[in-house]
Amino acid sequence: MKTINDYVEETGEIGYVKRVVNVIVHAHGLPSVRPGEIVIFENGDLGKVMSLGTEIVEIMILSKKSIKVGEKVARTGNSIEIPVGRQLLGQVIDPFGTPLDNNTIMKRPKISRPIEVLPSGIITRRTIKKQLDTGVGVVDLMVPIGRGQRQLVLGDRKTGKTNFLLQTIVSASRAGNICIYAAIGKKKIDIKKVQEYFINNNVMGNVVITASSPQDSPGVIFNTPYSAMTIAEYFRDQGLDTLVILDDLSTHAKFHRELSLLANKFPGRNSYPGDMFYVHAKLLERAGNFAVNDKEVAITCMPVVESSEGDIAGHIQTNAMGMTDGHIYFDSNLFSEGRRPAINPFLSVTRVGKQTQSSSKRSINRELLSFLTLYEKLRNFSHFGAELTESVRVTLQSGEKILGIFDQDPNIIIPSNIQTIFLTLIWSGNVKETDMKKLNRYRERLAALYTDNRSYREYVDKIVFSAKSFNDLLSIVQANLRQLFPSFQ
Ligand code: ATP
Ligand code: MG
Repeated sequence: MKTINDYVEETGEIGYVKRVVNVIVHAHGLPSVRPGEIVIFENGDLGKVMSLGTEIVEIMILSKKSIKVGEKVARTGNSIEIPVGRQLLGQVIDPFGTPLDNNTIMKRPKISRPIEVLPSGIITRRTIKKQLDTGVGVVDLMVPIGRGQRQLVLGDRKTGKTNFLLQTIVSASRAGNICIYAAIGKKKIDIKKVQEYFINNNVMGNVVITASSPQDSPGVIFNTPYSAMTIAEYFRDQGLDTLVILDDLSTHAKFHRELSLLANKFPGRNSYPGDMFYVHAKLLERAGNFAVNDKEVAITCMPVVESSEGDIAGHIQTNAMGMTDGHIYFDSNLFSEGRRPAINPFLSVTRVGKQTQSSSKRSINRELLSFLTLYEKLRNFSHFGAELTESVRVTLQSGEKILGIFDQDPNIIIPSNIQTIFLTLIWSGNVKETDMKKLNRYRERLAALYTDNRSYREYVDKIVFSAKSFNDLLSIVQANLRQLFPSFQ
């Protein structure tokens, strides 16, 4: 480990701290320092150069210890880098790559990469063609997500956003993706819960958690999503598809605002600094579907943004919508009605996901949307206490059944093809059972069969893929009821 004196000798420059404002330090005497460069203080702590004035350098402290006026400071010549390698898999690390779990001994990877890089150019990008199964039925059928898509997850506090993302990670990891979960300023207990979820579902070997908590300095919290992206880019360059979850960007924006206000940057809308859009867009642009050595490799990114009281028109929310390829909206009204997951398919958008679906699934998507729109209209109408005709009653009953099969427990992952044939079974009217709990338990058994039994899986995949439309699929399923739905009474 080099000390400040080594660096002074190396660079020939020594600076002194002139002023300290909370986590921002003004220093003078470092004439050739660059923005973004890491500097080292006398007590061994690190800082990052934020901006340069004619006389002074503005530095953000990257630790919790206090820095005093008059202390020495030196350049290191490096920007923030983190070690990357397969050793990170299964680990919980801080944004600088140090394991947070004291009991684990990790062999430190030999390669390091800077955490802030420019996004890859347009020449390296390819059209998004493959679907990423989230394992959550309502999303896979109605708001499909493509590999390489940037999909925002939007909603009020405690509406099930994180839980949905954990299900997505389990599903994506089973499909061979490397998943990186960035916990941005999350409580330690929440990070532990996330880790336990992955361990219980046997996917921790494909997952890296980069985490910062409220006790960390704002500089550390601010760097969490960048470090997650750098890890994803490393695995992409190894030819592996990755999924990055940024939980959440609202917290990230708040810390950026705090740092900017301390640094006397002029505040704009809602006191957020003027470069707020740029900061997030530069981060999310690092996702996409890329050409790597004649192969297409995707970095799918799902950032979370919190809304308050259902207001999705705020500054950060609209910014994030503008820089992603769609959003999944978690509705607190649906949550209080008892719907789990509380995803509102009418207010959710996917701009590139539909092109990744097979034609039968696309046709299901259209049918579902028009049927559920009709159902919603009739349901609102029936609230007035109007007398209902038989056909309206039948539509309402079927609507409830369809919505019922979108209900899913927090630990259950349903592959999208199972959800598809199960929906077809319900739609066809072959099922007399009205107890949704029983039906959903049967669906879980089908999902387990699909995951464990390869020949059943290939059979189901072939049927869903070969059908040209929903009607086509309905008749194929009708002709194969016995084989598709074993032990179903
Ligand atoms: P926060 O604002 O704290 O980030 P969040 O929107 O991420 O909240 P979660 O923490 O995922 O929400 O979930 C909130 C609560 O809802 C949790 O207690 C969770 O167990 C419950 N929950 C989430 N999804 C489901 C589900 N599919 N079925 C049953 N309960 C669920
Ligand atoms: Mg959450």
